Amino acid sequence: MARRLLARLRETMARAHAPLAELVRLVAAEMVSEVCSIYALRAGDLLELVATEGLLADAVGRTRLRVGEGLVGVCAATGMVLNLPDAQNHPAFVYRPETGEERFASLLAVPVRRAGRTLGVLTVQNRAPRHYTEEEVEVMETVAMMLAELLASAGAAEGAEEGLGATLPRRFAVAPLAPGVAIGAVLLHGTWHAPYRLLADDPAAELERLTQAMQSVQRGLDELLTRRAAAAGAAADILEAYRLIAADAGWMRRAGAAVRDGLTAEAAVHRVVEEMRESMRRVADPYLRERLADLEDLAGRVLAALGGGRSAVAAEGRLLIARRLGPADVLDWHARGIAGLVVEEGSAAGHAAIIARALGLPAAGGARGVLAAAEDGDVAILDADEGHLLLRPEAEMKQTYHRLLAQRREQAVGLREFARRPATSRDGVPVRLMLNVGLRQELDQLEATGAEGIGLFRTEIPMLAAGRILDVAEQAALYRRVLDGAGSRPVQFRTLDLGGDKLLAETAMAEEQNPAMGWRSLRVGLDRPAVLRRQLRALLLASAGRKLSVMFPMVATLSEFRAARALLQAEAARVRPGPERLDIGAMLEVPSLLFQLDAMLAEADFLSVGTNDLMQFLFAADRGAAALAGRYDLISPPVLDLLADLQRRAAAAGTPISVCGEAAARPVEALALIALGIETLSMPATSVLVVKAALAATDLRAFRTLLAALRERAAGAPSLREPLLAWLREHGVPI
Ligand code: PEP
Ligand code: MG
Repeated sequence: MARRLLARLRETMARAHAPLAELVRLVAAEMVSEVCSIYALRAGDLLELVATEGLLADAVGRTRLRVGEGLVGVCAATGMVLNLPDAQNHPAFVYRPETGEERFASLLAVPVRRAGRTLGVLTVQNRAPRHYTEEEVEVMETVAMMLAELLASAGAAEGAEEGLGATLPRRFAVAPLAPGVAIGAVLLHGTWHAPYRLLADDPAAELERLTQAMQSVQRGLDELLTRRAAAAGAAADILEAYRLIAADAGWMRRAGAAVRDGLTAEAAVHRVVEEMRESMRRVADPYLRERLADLEDLAGRVLAALGGGRSAVAAEGRLLIARRLGPADVLDWHARGIAGLVVEEGSAAGHAAIIARALGLPAAGGARGVLAAAEDGDVAILDADEGHLLLRPEAEMKQTYHRLLAQRREQAVGLREFARRPATSRDGVPVRLMLNVGLRQELDQLEATGAEGIGLFRTEIPMLAAGRILDVAEQAALYRRVLDGAGSRPVQFRTLDLGGDKLLAETAMAEEQNPAMGWRSLRVGLDRPAVLRRQLRALLLASAGRKLSVMFPMVATLSEFRAARALLQAEAARVRPGPERLDIGAMLEVPSLLFQLDAMLAEADFLSVGTNDLMQFLFAADRGAAALAGRYDLISPPVLDLLADLQRRAAAAGTPISVCGEAAARPVEALALIALGIETLSMPATSVLVVKAALAATDLRAFRTLLAALRERAAGAPSLREPLLAWLREHGVPI
């Protein structure tokens, strides 16, 4: 039935002057229904009756329902098929007298969707109460796919304001992952356009195309699996599971059946994925949702193999929107020139965020529903500083943000001169500004910013980017290049800090309730010393004849530090030639270390304060929770007292300390830290010139006096930020 109807539709559509009217007539006849109607989505989330066979003709253009209102509205809102023998007694039924629909008992309503968005609803109604068969539902879904193309092209033709597609501005609250603002045309990743051609002339030839494409994807995966077999472990398991889905006869059979019904191979693949999406909507289980993502990815590969799908789209200057991205993907898209990045899911965002920050790429996460709401090519503004994503923004909004970007570019040009200037306050107090990096590509920022060295090299980032832990030779080569690139400038390597939100498949950890406080970082290193020892050996090999500084993350006890140091010393005794000098330090990120401070200061060669983790553990506030962002301030009496005490005791012990958390990257915080006497700050490259410029404009003596007075006067205040900001503004400090 589907094939015959589709063939007739194709013929008629090509000639018809009023294709929608023709379509409802044909569908009503084929379905043996008294009524067939089309509701199209209008601006303002209204569904308008645009064509009907069987309802009163007067209602066309007059009957309008809000999305969510009535059965048609519910179908549009949920994106689900409604198959109701007794529609009028359904609780969501609303009666519209102008349609005359009281005569019809049963209703089948099918959403008209394209690229994940609902464009309208297609219905049939019958006088007699009846449950529509599975085959009838399938026919309607196939017609709905065709209708989607018609509605979408009609929407484009009618222009943006009153088009049939939802073209209204939308605003999403997003969780900032990497700071910055980007404006650009949306590039959807992991979704694809609805197929260009829906109906095939020769189903047998089409089936052959589909089979070939599926086999080629299967072969590609088999090859990948064989190559990765050596790596074994969890990564191989994931690939194997992926291959099994690829080989799953169920979805292949369904796609094959759709081709036999007359669809093109591309349209059939779309239909299967849409069906899966529909059934997955009701599934909360994250594991099954992952499987859907795998299937979508596979479908993308099949489409690519069919010659459509994801081709080499232009990415330059565009805003990438994806469900989730791995670290290698972020590097890849950055190299292709994207302006910003938005991911829907927070869970994988951890990896993406670290890389995006390292690359200075504005990024945000937690943007649920964006993929469904956005269309490729829509203009969007990502304000990752404030946590907004504005889709199809109003002209005024666009102008405002273009102005802001122009200002920032001007500032950046003005700041460039600071690269060659020392980091000194207006009254001549020198400070050491260092870089936080994780990628070799970032080394040129030493020159670009005039930073004095690398205060934090996050060694886990190259591993996350590679998707595995590099072997000793690979790591040694990497560290050697870092040391070569830094030349005479110092580099502090931090050992692997995996776990929490930084996960590698091969070190897959058991699921934990609180991964940030779980088996992560140095804890893993001490429990599985082989990996840590290999890394330490690689660092020693790379630094032969040069200075080597190594620090351990997440040290919670003096004994952990001693155990880690012993591993390093044991390796150092074996590696010849060894480094010219070996400094062994710790990151201060866990508050317990504050209560073993004197011993730590005596035993460690240096300490570096990781304010990101320290703040989260100090205030028991998850650093990744968007709802808590900004709730606790570093510039507050308890934290300032803690840091002042730390600075005093470190100075007395003669042990260098620095701050390398993100707090050091923001000018006001950086000035407060400097005012406390902390002389070394390490930060992302994007902040160095900004902090230098703020410092150069600040009379540190006066600022220090102000801070001391505020700490005394406002001991119970949750934050001292406002009065500091007011003073800085008053004194013309660029912040
Ligand atoms: C920190 O915790 O402040 C830090 C610098 O380490 P990371 O952000 O990599 O956890
Ligand atoms: Mg940390």
